[in-house]
Amino acid sequence: MTSGKKTGTRSLRPATELVHGGTARSAFGETSEAIFLTQGFVYAGAEAAEARFNGEDPGFVYSRYANPTVQMFEDRIKTLEGAEAARGTASGMAAVNLALMASVQAGDHVVASKALFGSCRYICETLLPRFGVDSTLVDGTDLDQWQAALRPNTKALFLESPTNPTLEVIDIAAVADIGHSVAARLIVDNVFATPLYQAPLTLGADVVVYSATKHIDGQGRCLGGVVLGDEEWIADDVMPFVKHTGPHMSPFNAWVLLKGLETLPLRVERQSSSASQIAGFLADRPKVARLIYPGREDHPQAEIVKRQMTGGSTMVAFEIAGGKEAAFRFTNALDIIRISNNLGDAKSLITHPATTTHQSIGEDARAELGISDGILRLSVGLEDPADLLEDIENALNAV
Ligand SMILES: *Cc1c(COP(=O)(O)O)cnc(C)c1O
Repeated sequence: MTSGKKTGTRSLRPATELVHGGTARSAFGETSEAIFLTQGFVYAGAEAAEARFNGEDPGFVYSRYANPTVQMFEDRIKTLEGAEAARGTASGMAAVNLALMASVQAGDHVVASKALFGSCRYICETLLPRFGVDSTLVDGTDLDQWQAALRPNTKALFLESPTNPTLEVIDIAAVADIGHSVAARLIVDNVFATPLYQAPLTLGADVVVYSATKHIDGQGRCLGGVVLGDEEWIADDVMPFVKHTGPHMSPFNAWVLLKGLETLPLRVERQSSSASQIAGFLADRPKVARLIYPGREDHPQAEIVKRQMTGGSTMVAFEIAGGKEAAFRFTNALDIIRISNNLGDAKSLITHPATTTHQSIGEDARAELGISDGILRLSVGLEDPADLLEDIENALNAV
């Protein structure tokens, strides 16, 4: 296989890297990246097999360890992110679990922001303690709480920003500094910001994780995830975990996601521009009690948004006055925007977190996170924004 030009450098602009970065062509010289649906690889001789296994020859051995199509995906996203190394995983949750498992052992301690994607919260709050890793959950927007939660054995800090579903923004550089004071690694789940609008590694974070299921695919086709970090940690801690426990990405999904990366900027820019228009429209409606959009001056952390994000968001959170009944009436009256818990998709999707994604955490935990019964989370898609605005206006009239 021959490499694409200039992979591993940041000399080309992101949109160009997302089309060419990581491409490794086979002897056929195909234009589009090939899908290597193979479990294993054959060797020219016994000596060649020996060299692969002892690391003298860095070629492929088995697709649970590494695969050419998956590697193209890893190289492409790592170039965009400015990371030394990346590992693709079967899903976003496999990536989050991998990043945490590769950072801690029994006796260690983890601090995480409370406002986490449900399954991420389960890993920190329930799963890690079962294996002797204590965890403390904090209000991620309150830096004093991060500081107060630190212990000498704190090995990882974990946060998501903007958060799901209320789009709060956490100061990544400040939390990274706090963690580094006890040599803890800061892991950032960057799904909501996308790699285009926030670069956690340049802000001081040590690890970035994605659910590639969201904007990176962006067209509802497959699950995937990725962990990005420094070369040494990926080689010494992440790679053995992947190799021996098998949360790897399928080559077919890697190919879908490679193609997704090519159009990521076009899609995210269009979706964010529509989301910003929708946020502006909702801000003036009397039936909307609260509106949260990271691109607006009235966002609770507007100052941090300016410092650490280069764009708004494809997501809008808002509260319909009148609680659950009004929120249900609104969502049921929508015609183009569909009810679904997914996000980052070409299709606009709306969620009522209190009764779906955040139902199981209970009323008290929801109140703590500001998830009232009227809160809705809208993931804005690629439809014509004028149609989306009409859909929203009609539904508001039905409330
Ligand atoms: C969806 C999501 C995940 C989990 O990703 P999957 O691909 O569904 O496993 C993790 N974190 C955030 C913020 C997400 O939105």
